[in-house]
Amino acid sequence: MTHVELAVAAPAEAEDTVAAVLAACGTTGAWIPAPGDVRAYFRTPSPDLERRFASHWRSVTGEEFAFPLRLRPVPEQDWLAGYRAAARPIRIGDRLWIAPPDFEPDTPQPGPVVLIEPGLGFGTGEHPTTRALLRWIHDAGPFQRALDVGTGSGVLALAALAGGTEAAVGLDPDGFALENAARNRELNRARGLTLVRGSLDALAPGARFDLVLANLDSPSLDRLLPALARRVTPEGRLGVAGALGPDRTPLLERSRAAGLVLLDERLDPDPAPGDLWWSGWLGRA
Ligand code: SAH
Repeated sequence: MTHVELAVAAPAEAEDTVAAVLAACGTTGAWIPAPGDVRAYFRTPSPDLERRFASHWRSVTGEEFAFPLRLRPVPEQDWLAGYRAAARPIRIGDRLWIAPPDFEPDTPQPGPVVLIEPGLGFGTGEHPTTRALLRWIHDAGPFQRALDVGTGSGVLALAALAGGTEAAVGLDPDGFALENAARNRELNRARGLTLVRGSLDALAPGARFDLVLANLDSPSLDRLLPALARRVTPEGRLGVAGALGPDRTPLLERSRAAGLVLLDERLDPDPAPGDLWWSGWLGRA
């Protein structure tokens, strides 16, 4: 018995906070079998886990954790099986595949395949926001230099490279995301991917890219749009995702003010009914 599983039942809208707190507690991996049911794994011994979770939760949210926590020992095979069950190959457009490391294609020439280890870095390719950007990368590429702001698992940068883009930089302030991205870089033998801890200000002031990607949330996009726009070459493209439908109009105004024009856009339903995700594909005006 080398791992324990901490099952956290919380409302689906609290999943991001739960994931951040689990990361702070040092989980080796987490997955969400159903909305509001987060399962995270910890190497044993892992003393005081429930107390540490509650204490990190308090410091992140300022509130007491009021939902059920369940701890159980798991045989190694069990949690690996959970990961595999959660991760399945995904096809983008007519050729590009995003798949877990044990992917075995039915056909010998499936097109570019990006292998992603399910881990704490967001981005197994399943989320509608990731898929929206993957589609544009796939249809409009290859590019010369890509910048992936908030790279998570590295999926967008790795997909650009798999499609023939020459080099990519992945930025993320989150150490767990970067660890996962580094593992995926290795899995895909993607030497062209440079990973940098931090955000846009970690780049050299003059660095420009003909593909800039940012799958973040609405407040971050709103704040970063002018800085993102400045990183795009005159003929380059900016793909943004992670905003909800009602944020489309303010974000488009922000884009126009930053000298960008909308070339294409998508509204995709969330698997949890109710929300629509807005994604935009922009160029310099
Ligand atoms: N690019 C992946 C992951 C997106 S999740 C995909 O499309 O699937 C968003 C990621 O952005 C997270 O890993 C988070 O740590 C990172 N992030 C959040 N705020 C950021 C910021 N201001 N600058 C750069 N990265 C940020």
